[in-house]
Amino acid sequence: MTTPQDAASAAEGAGISQAASTNEQVEIKQVEELNEDGTPLSDNQKKKRAKALEKERKKAETAAKVAAEKEAREKADVDFSAQNYGALPLNQSQERTGRAYASIAQFNGSRDGEAVFFTARIQTSRSPSAKMVFLTLRNRFDCVQAVLAQAPERVSKQFVKWAASLVPETLVAVEGTLVKSPVPIESATVTVKDAEVRISKLHVISAITTDGPLPFYVDEAVRSDAEVAASQSTDRPMATIGLDTRLDNRVLDLRTVTNQAIFRIQHGVCRLFREYLEDADFIELHTPKLQGAATESGASVFKVSYFKGDAFLAQSPQLAKQMAISADFGRVYEIGPVFRAEDSNTPRHMTEFTGVDLEMAFDEHYHEVLDLLRKLFSFIFQQLPKRYAREFALVKRQYPVPDFEVPDEVPRITFQEAVDMLRADGVEIADNEDFSTEQERRVGALVKEKYHSDFVAIDKYPLAVRPFYTMPDPQNPAVSNSYDFLMRGQEILSGAQRVHDAGLLEKRMAEAGIKPSDMPSYLNAFRSGCPPHAGAGIGLERVVFLMLGLGNIRRASLFPRDPKRLEP
Ligand code: ATP
Repeated sequence: MTTPQDAASAAEGAGISQAASTNEQVEIKQVEELNEDGTPLSDNQKKKRAKALEKERKKAETAAKVAAEKEAREKADVDFSAQNYGALPLNQSQERTGRAYASIAQFNGSRDGEAVFFTARIQTSRSPSAKMVFLTLRNRFDCVQAVLAQAPERVSKQFVKWAASLVPETLVAVEGTLVKSPVPIESATVTVKDAEVRISKLHVISAITTDGPLPFYVDEAVRSDAEVAASQSTDRPMATIGLDTRLDNRVLDLRTVTNQAIFRIQHGVCRLFREYLEDADFIELHTPKLQGAATESGASVFKVSYFKGDAFLAQSPQLAKQMAISADFGRVYEIGPVFRAEDSNTPRHMTEFTGVDLEMAFDEHYHEVLDLLRKLFSFIFQQLPKRYAREFALVKRQYPVPDFEVPDEVPRITFQEAVDMLRADGVEIADNEDFSTEQERRVGALVKEKYHSDFVAIDKYPLAVRPFYTMPDPQNPAVSNSYDFLMRGQEILSGAQRVHDAGLLEKRMAEAGIKPSDMPSYLNAFRSGCPPHAGAGIGLERVVFLMLGLGNIRRASLFPRDPKRLEP
């Protein structure tokens, strides 16, 4: 409470001297005893002047009192929480305390009363009054509700005001107590349903320093199209965040639980691919992406400058992995970048993607490899939803899609059988022509009806639609020992038995208009004797986007590259 003495001394402190103001009044009085023409003031005039002067005096007195009270208040307002909040110094690895950091994923009501220390991002912040802030704190997949409330000698109002000013996505270190929640927490984004954190200390590890506000908030970016559409008729319509906005701000977009899940599933595909092949005695190789010649197939290649000449970015590891077979590696695979200079602006093409490739020497028949591929994918598709069940559920919340159906034995049909199925369905298709995108989709749908499978291996493609290194069928020269695998009616894998005979390879090259002198190292690999072999190339992002029903391959690529996008 401010006493009158306080106010007086504060007024003095503020430099408002009463003596000075009285002198001023005397001065004014003397000057104003006379009119401008020098005649004395009338009594009426004197009264008016006196009244005005009194008003001035009272005004000055009130101002002095207000200033004094403010200062006294500020003096009394010591911030007893100053140590418990604020920005941490820049982490330059000054110390290593060994302190235990808790994980939001492990928070629950049975830990009621436990002190916790953890790092998180602020996902949302709400301050219903000057005395309280509610935060949703996120750590990768998990969100917990947290509250900071003003409390005598524990949480100052300055602390609460500061916490309320922190914007979403700020990275913070939090100290607090877990408190069991009497009723389940309803918010869809909060994953810890039966406990919240009562914050006692809050420090900023990394602040938001963007020029303007963030383009969108992470909790907005996880809404499904259906949720956004349904909200349009309510008083709180949600904003649609387009794919381009997301990709332009990909780091922010990648923080959504959906994207965290998508990329863990993508990692899962590679992990299971490796796991299966490790057990089947394959080894992982790393082939060069810079090549001296633009050969292999019709797909366009990117030319890059290479010292005084040019080089080309590999459009697949095809040639190198076959040469490794000739070098007696037997069973090899690679997961690496593949470049295609094709101006294809479709939902399933990019100019750089991740090629998942394998090549294998076989004993007698390329079906040894085809069967291994079918078993490999059956393993991946069955294990993936089991090992990443939570991730699948999270992705489905934003991108609802029927479960991916695959029987234990992946159906295998011939190209001709697929053509017959299409024709029986009324689709017109010429002989020895590849399927169009639409026809491929239809094949997928017909296979689903007949075999209850979203996945199919199609064998024996027309030779004319396959690259020169594809082995022709021994019985029918118009057909080849080659195959494609389709997921939900779209190609994810292309493979074949390769020509391992140098003479036949030269003949096939000539037919394709390729000069043997353009590929001397490749040809020499077969001239020195090579085991019969077959293999396949798979697009990692295709597998992921089709399995999860993401609608666009870019959603399954960390930083997608297409004819219109090289950034970020
Ligand atoms: P498509 O006919 O679909 O363009 P392709 O016949 O050119 O594919 P291949 O050269 O056989 O494909 O490549 C093997 C696999 O690599 C394909 O089955 C697909 O999964 C993937 N793939 C091919 N091109 C692209 C691309 N531009 N973007 C993403 N993935 C691709």
